[in-house]
Amino acid sequence: MLLLNPKTFTSGNQDPRFDGIISKTIEFFEHKGLKKIKDDDHQRNWYADFLEFVKKERIFSTLLTPAGYGDKDTRWDTWRIARYSELLAFYGLAYWYTWQVSILGLGPIWMSENVQLKKRAAELLEQGEVFAFGLSERDHGADIYATEMCLTPQENGTYRANGSKYYIGNGNIAQMVSTFGKMADSGEYVFFIANYLHEKYDCVKNIIASQSYVAEYALHDYPVSEEDILSKGQDAWDAVLNTVNIGKYNLGMASIGICTHAFYEAMNHAAHRRLYNMYVTDFPHVRQMFTDAYVRLVAMKLFALRAADYMRIASPEDRRYLLYNPMVKMKVTTQGEEVINLLWDIIAAKGFEKDTYFEMAARDIRALPKLEGTVHVNVALILKFMANYFFKPAKYPDVPGQSESRNDDFLFKQGPTRGLGKIHFHDYKLIYGCFDLPNIEIFKKQIRLLKLLLFIAGPSVQQRKDIDFLLTLGELFTLVVYGQLILENARIYKIGDDTVDQIFDCLVRDFSSLALQLHSKPGSTWRQMRLCKKMVKKPAQDNDRVNRMWKDHVITLKDRYIMNL
Ligand SMILES: Cc1cc2nc3c(=O)[nH]c(=O)nc-3n(C[C@H](O)[C@H](O)[C@H](O)COP(=O)(O)OP(=O)(O)OC[C@H]3O[C@@H](n4cnc5c(N)ncnc54)[C@H](O)[C@@H]3O)c2cc1C
Repeated sequence: MLLLNPKTFTSGNQDPRFDGIISKTIEFFEHKGLKKIKDDDHQRNWYADFLEFVKKERIFSTLLTPAGYGDKDTRWDTWRIARYSELLAFYGLAYWYTWQVSILGLGPIWMSENVQLKKRAAELLEQGEVFAFGLSERDHGADIYATEMCLTPQENGTYRANGSKYYIGNGNIAQMVSTFGKMADSGEYVFFIANYLHEKYDCVKNIIASQSYVAEYALHDYPVSEEDILSKGQDAWDAVLNTVNIGKYNLGMASIGICTHAFYEAMNHAAHRRLYNMYVTDFPHVRQMFTDAYVRLVAMKLFALRAADYMRIASPEDRRYLLYNPMVKMKVTTQGEEVINLLWDIIAAKGFEKDTYFEMAARDIRALPKLEGTVHVNVALILKFMANYFFKPAKYPDVPGQSESRNDDFLFKQGPTRGLGKIHFHDYKLIYGCFDLPNIEIFKKQIRLLKLLLFIAGPSVQQRKDIDFLLTLGELFTLVVYGQLILENARIYKIGDDTVDQIFDCLVRDFSSLALQLHSKPGSTWRQMRLCKKMVKKPAQDNDRVNRMWKDHVITLKDRYIMNL
């Protein structure tokens, strides 16, 4: 089964160390139990038990130390990292968050030329320490050009750091906080290390009310020597963007973990609840919502895992992951919100109860689209690839699934972040052409109309300045790429036709809805409106398929997973 189920996890024997990590982590959380997880969440208890467990089992050290800096089992293996992200969020986003910000904090370190700092990071990982990424500032949000943290050169060749950072996870306990700033004299960018233990490091407060510590910290004349500097100038700037390129992927896996646990819980509740002498799962609208939630979740996972394949084979000549990763970030996480909305409509009042996992999921699922660049920032990024994607495809060798054990070397030498316009993609029509299911046929027509719109009625100069208009266009484009990678992975995972067609039943409806939105934009032209209207289509109806989906795939998830209390 594609969906994670901790109760039926079996070792694959390909990577015994990783299997051991997964088993022990499941054991840790199942032993802790749902009641204690929820108590800690409500009391906002710091997750010291989890950090102690991670330290004892050397988990972050094994999974987050690149090959060459640790023992034989350590490597940066996106496959393992994706799976672990999903598992942690399955039990609680707070546990995932301390892991995620460690990944971000380590990004500029592993990308640096400063070997001593890398060795220090490996030692700290071995000792069970966590890391932090000091990028955001209170007044600037997404606008990192405006960074105010600065290093002032001293006569003896060292520097003094002054400024503050805001929203920094693990900023209360990380001995290596990768801090982004500028040189006070030249204005060039710089990444340096600050230590929360230093007296000039002021951990001001936790900004959010949660188990996690999301710090505001200030540096007051904090001494920095050349040995503390990770990178300068263009390298420092590239390290920011390249770190986020890697890190944003995990937000999608977290969303998948949350939705999977919430799905089991919602199904168990609804399938056992009797109203009017029938089970809630007998209502046709409930079946429809569960089926939608299920296929949307399967689609999220197929897409995200396929995106990991492209991240793993990336090279200076193949940077297609720069389109797929922002989509994991914005599309998978917003689909996660959709899945939770559907489930919540089914379980209604139950979703408020303090003893459920769902209550936590309903809150936490909202965070993922907003962190590490909002949905808007990511759609704006994705739009840069649209012309090459549709009109200038390139030939690439086939990319099989990339689950084997290896270090993903390229991720820490991604190089310059510019040149996005030079990235080409393989022809999306190749995989769409391999399927002739009814809803895929309808979806292909929608794609052709979108392409026609871009060709004969593309955005005017005025519309290109209108982000509101472009965002909807970007979401339509996103759907085409989303469907493409879902199909590629449906083949790899041998997903049955019913499920694939049912996924595209949702995608046809989503496409229609976005086309209507584009049609209704104040600035859309007569020609654009006509084409948008044609894009509004109804999915192919097939009651037999719908019944089979329910019987063979959806209701079968009843009682499959119940967390230990
Ligand atoms: C719980 C939590 C944990 C966090 N952890 C960390 C951390 O560990 N380290 C860290 O450095 N940061 C962290 N952050 C910061 C987070 O990544 C930022 O909040 C995020 O990047 C967005 O910034 P903002 O919320 O200030 O939105 P703003 O930047 O204020 O954006 C406001 C609006 O403008 C839009 N906008 C801005 N720029 C563009 C653009 N180019 N195109 C289109 N629209 C745009 C946005 O989409 C949004 O709608 C954390 C935040 C939270 C809430």
